[in-house]
Amino acid sequence: MALSDKQVSLNYADLLQRSRDAFDSGKTRPIEWRIGQLKQLARMLRETSADAVAAVASDLRKNKFETFLTEIDYILEEITHTLAHIKEWSATSKPSKGLANLFDSVEIRNDPYGVVLIIGTWNYPIQISLLPLVGAIAAGNCVIIKPSEMSMATSKYLSENFPKYMDTECYHIVTGGIEKTTELLKQRYDYIFYTGSTTVGKIVRDAANVHLTPVTLELGGKSPVYIDNTVDMTMAAKRIMWGKCVNSGQTCIAPDYILCTPEVQDKFIEEARKILKEWYGENPEMSADLARLISDKHYNRLVNFLNGNGKIAIGGNVNPKEKYISPTILIDVKQTDPIMQEEIFGPILPIININDANEAIKFIKSREKPLALYIFSQNKEIISTFLNKTSSGNALVNDTILHCAVETLPFGGVGHSGIGAYHGKYSYDTFTHKKGCLIRNYNKVAESLSQNRFPPYTDKKLTLLRLLLKKRNIPFMKYLPTLLIFGLGMLTIVIVQAALKEFEYTEERKV
Ligand code: NAD
Repeated sequence: MALSDKQVSLNYADLLQRSRDAFDSGKTRPIEWRIGQLKQLARMLRETSADAVAAVASDLRKNKFETFLTEIDYILEEITHTLAHIKEWSATSKPSKGLANLFDSVEIRNDPYGVVLIIGTWNYPIQISLLPLVGAIAAGNCVIIKPSEMSMATSKYLSENFPKYMDTECYHIVTGGIEKTTELLKQRYDYIFYTGSTTVGKIVRDAANVHLTPVTLELGGKSPVYIDNTVDMTMAAKRIMWGKCVNSGQTCIAPDYILCTPEVQDKFIEEARKILKEWYGENPEMSADLARLISDKHYNRLVNFLNGNGKIAIGGNVNPKEKYISPTILIDVKQTDPIMQEEIFGPILPIININDANEAIKFIKSREKPLALYIFSQNKEIISTFLNKTSSGNALVNDTILHCAVETLPFGGVGHSGIGAYHGKYSYDTFTHKKGCLIRNYNKVAESLSQNRFPPYTDKKLTLLRLLLKKRNIPFMKYLPTLLIFGLGMLTIVIVQAALKEFEYTEERKV
């Protein structure tokens, strides 16, 4: 029996309350407990990997190779990295302090936010739901995950297996489409982590604003590629075409379009033609290595781009029954063409001709800030001009996609491509409130230093206070209390010795 909206809402409120109770019980606080849950997540991925591969294949016809590379192993590596650093990341840090706090303890504590909502999308249906979860668990939060309804088989795989391995009070998977997500978003969370389109990102942010809930928005956009004539074109074309063909271009950081001169374009097309034949044979549709598009709607949107957007230089073959579009390169594309107005998110790669790097930079800057920027050049000056003059979530020189596999780099957008970043320590920090703590005591010396703040206010007190509060760059400030105590100790010894000498001298004179 289907639940009414009111019942769904009540269920979500109940789920949230149960998660909050679990969080408030302090269960997630011990680091060892979090480590245990991360290990359980890794166990689930290892023991159910065959089911995971089958689920992703059913949703996207993604092959085992890509599912291990971009979903299962990718998350397992993130868990390994997190387990290796969790104690160091969660340790209370002691930042430097000024003269006024010489006798105080100044600390930054890592507080979990509480109950986190993670909303995922379908293109990497396991990775997008579970990768942020790793950081959320490590930081000590309770989590509700809403995978995409578009990748139905994977949602089912997750909701069936997840509760068998993970703590069922703290971690939950909720399935459903837009209506259920809308209901889910009416609840009050302590943090919302959303991955998906910029349009829905705005809806999520509006919902979060009602309760001033902090958000991370991992969005999309058009990621440009610039190529100049200094590159090794065989290598460059392979790296670009792999970025476009992996998951059939349904990757948030897939190269969206190319900016190059007509001369570079000819070389690129020649190489791309050879590479595609080498990788996928005469008829790429027969290859087991190309994923399919997620839905008819998505397929139709992409097929429309094959007409009225320049000329097809390579590919352009389609099969609606299979939701298949062959890897396609379009030339003579104008920046006003429909394909240049939205993120492509499929295996079609348009080329826009420009005259030089400056024109490419101007083009990129005239549009929304991309999630990724790809610069293919061996000219150091050109590379640094791009890096200095453009703004993008991430930038990668002479390759595509691979920056997301560097766990020490923040991954995220800027402007319309997103808010916030994650991966590795950045995930841990995303789900952590950095609580600054000042811990004072009843030390008499400290009190004599700071008592000038109390009324009645006088000019003398103000002068002393300003002297005390003045920021100084003293390199050994950290050691000042120790030095002071050492100094006081030495002074006491000198005074005691002098007093003893004086006593002996008086005694001698008496004798
Ligand atoms: P989608 O349709 O699966 O939507 C994402 C989530 O939002 C789903 O869980 C869905 O239920 C929910 N949703 C959809 N419409 C909603 C609404 N009106 N109200 C509330 N919730 C709603 O995914 P999509 O939007 O097609 O995702 C593709 C986009 O995601 C692309 O733009 C891509 O670039 C981006 N993306 C970004 C990253 C990243 O890390 N930055 C990763 C993957 C995908």
